[in-house]
Amino acid sequence: MKTLEFRKKILSWYSKNRRELPWRDNPAPYNVWLSEIILQQTRVSQGIIYFNSFIEKFPDIKSLAHANEQEVLKLWQGLGYYSRARNLHAAAKQLSANNYQLPSSYKSLLKLKGVGPYTAAAIASIAFKEPVAAVDGNVMRVISRFYGINDPVNSTKGKKLIDMLSGELIDTENPGDFNQAMMELGATVCTPKNYKCPICPVNSLCIAFSANIVHELPKKIKRKKTITRYFNYLVIDLGNSLIMKKRYNNDIWKNLYDFPLIETSAYADETAIFNNPIWKSWFSGSQATILNVTDYKKHLLTHQVLMVRFYHISVPQLKNIPPEFHKTDKIDIFDLPVPKIIECFLSESFSKI
Ligand code: SF4
Repeated sequence: MKTLEFRKKILSWYSKNRRELPWRDNPAPYNVWLSEIILQQTRVSQGIIYFNSFIEKFPDIKSLAHANEQEVLKLWQGLGYYSRARNLHAAAKQLSANNYQLPSSYKSLLKLKGVGPYTAAAIASIAFKEPVAAVDGNVMRVISRFYGINDPVNSTKGKKLIDMLSGELIDTENPGDFNQAMMELGATVCTPKNYKCPICPVNSLCIAFSANIVHELPKKIKRKKTITRYFNYLVIDLGNSLIMKKRYNNDIWKNLYDFPLIETSAYADETAIFNNPIWKSWFSGSQATILNVTDYKKHLLTHQVLMVRFYHISVPQLKNIPPEFHKTDKIDIFDLPVPKIIECFLSESFSKI
């Protein structure tokens, strides 16, 4: 009974309160997929801009599959979590075997690169009406509060319970709208802080609200400590070109470009950097002139805090450039996919070239 009432209330609320979003106007499978990948870890307002650019440049899966990875990463630039873009591109290629069409079932969607249970459920329910619950962080919070769940939502037991309850709650007639209504409620009403229980459509049925424990839920186990890294970038300026490098290793920013780097375990002053073997390997025997040294700037990633500083150094010429580094013409640097912090530095330092 409570389940039926919940569905009715939330669907009615959603029909009146849903935000107009470009992928909702046209919930074609590709649009739903693209929007769901973009919206992972991204605010909706920012996501709309990227979604529209992607649709304009790659209007269908085939055009995305035929793009080169650099084009895709360039368009993704600024969104972060670049593995999402690499996987999206790889999955589009995978779909060549399916005539560039997304499969319609939850199970088949899970086989695509970068498509996990949540994304597969969102696509299957919204684009193909399969009654499978899409449980993201927002939905987890709603369910955990609505049922007053005490188990941590990131524990195995808590996850199982939430999966079971969300599977029972879903409206089988209208699973796409139901899932979107749950996400929307979590994003706009049942928010982590400043939740708006008095205007919530299901407050009369909600356990956390009636027990006054909304602020205590959802419970979570604390994981992984954030680490701080210190990046001292060498922006080696050869007049018409800069030295850049593609990041191939399994660290952050894979396949994006950056500059020669001296990474230190703590703040390093200029003397420490000038005495670093990497600095010496680049500049001993050459006439290097330091044009500018920026202050350290903080850049936040999921489990890392980066403190980033740029040494802008003019060098008339360099004798030996290690093979993994490239001379890049200044007029071409804005075409390369680079991390946000590098993009800001380039825009501030070289935009007038
Ligand atoms: S009443 Fe409050 S806690 Fe319960 S679902 Fe609504 S917003 Fe969330």
